[in-house]
Order: sequence, then structure tokens, then C-alpha cells
Amino acid sequence: MELPPEQLQQTIDRFNGFARNGIDEDFHRGESAHDRYYGDPTLKNPNLDVIAEAPFYAMRVYPGDIGTKGGVVIDTKARILRTGGAPIAGVYAAGNCSASVMGESYPGPGATLGPGMTFGYIAAKHCAQ
Ligand SMILES: Cc1cc2nc3c(=O)[nH]c(=O)nc-3n(C[C@H](O)[C@H](O)[C@H](O)COP(=O)(O)OP(=O)(O)OC[C@H]3O[C@@H](n4cnc5c(N)ncnc54)[C@H](O)[C@@H]3O)c2cc1C
Repeated sequence: MELPPEQLQQTIDRFNGFARNGIDEDFHRGESAHDRYYGDPTLKNPNLDVIAEAPFYAMRVYPGDIGTKGGVVIDTKARILRTGGAPIAGVYAAGNCSASVMGESYPGPGATLGPGMTFGYIAAKHCAQ
């Protein structure tokens, strides 16, 4: 991991204290109903368990967008529309950079990848024609 061992030990000790007390003073994990829904109900804090028993594994975590609520409006051919509603010739959008076809809701898993792939496919076909 190439981390300073003493700093890492301090971080783990602090984290384990939160796990034992049930209160995450740093990131407040386990405080919301949404957190607890995905947690382990047998733990004092359903989102935290002590890091104590080897073997340990580490991985880098990057933030990512699950979806956006906004972006350019497209038509059924994935063409970007002007404010007045006319398509801009040769300019397409799909996925998170375009306004969601689901409007302001997220009906369930697949509601971003499905339309993203579909409109990407439609855009490529229309563009090729
Ligand atoms: C944890 C998690 C779980 C998810 N689970 C689901 C799920 O179960 N079902 C589902 O449907 N969706 C799910 N999603 C959402 C889904 O993964 C995204 O909505 C989808 O990947 C967005 O695809 P995209 O191509 O629009 O954008 P991205 O995948 O974000 O692609 C954008 C690309 O553009 C590149 N880029 C950015 N800026 C520039 C630039 N200036 N120049 C060149 N390239 C640039 C980026 O590097 C990136 O590769 C999940 C997302 C996350 C984070």
C-alpha cells in the first residue's frame, strides 16, 4: 500500500474505536436509514466492523457518478435539441451528459446504464446513416 505504517495504525485504531462505540465521528456512516438498510444489523454500527483479523486487503476507491439530473435534452435519435426544440445536426448525446429519459426519478437498477447504452447505439446508427 506504500502508506506510512504508524499513520495507518493510528487510522485503524481510530476507526476501530468508532466501530466499537457505534458512532462514526469522521464520516457519520450508519446514521441514516439508507445506510442501515444496507448494513449488518448484528453490529453496533451496521456499517462499521473492527479491522482486527488478518489477512487484510486494500484497494483504491474512486468516486463516480451514479447518474445526473440535468444535461442536454435529446430526441428519439439521440440528437441534442436547441432551446426551441430543433435538433443540432451531427451532435449527439447519451448517458450522464444528457437529461435522463427517466425525468426526475430513478425507478431502479439499470435506469442509467440501459438508456445510456440504448441511446449510444441509436446515436451511432443515426450518425452512420
Ligand atoms: C457505484 C455505482 C453503481 C452503479 N450501479 C448502477 C446500476 O446498477 N445500474 C445502472 O443502470 N447504473 C448504475 N450506475 C450508474 C452507471 O454506471 C452510470 O450512469 C454510467 O456508467 C454512466 O455512463 P456514461 O458513459 O454516461 O458516463 P461515464 O461512465 O462517467 O463516462 C464518461 C467518460 O468520459 C470521460 N471524460 C470525462 N471528461 C472528459 C474530457 N474532458 N475529455 C475526455 N473524456 C472525458 C471519463 O473519463 C469517462 O470515461 C452505477 C454507478 C455507480 C458509481
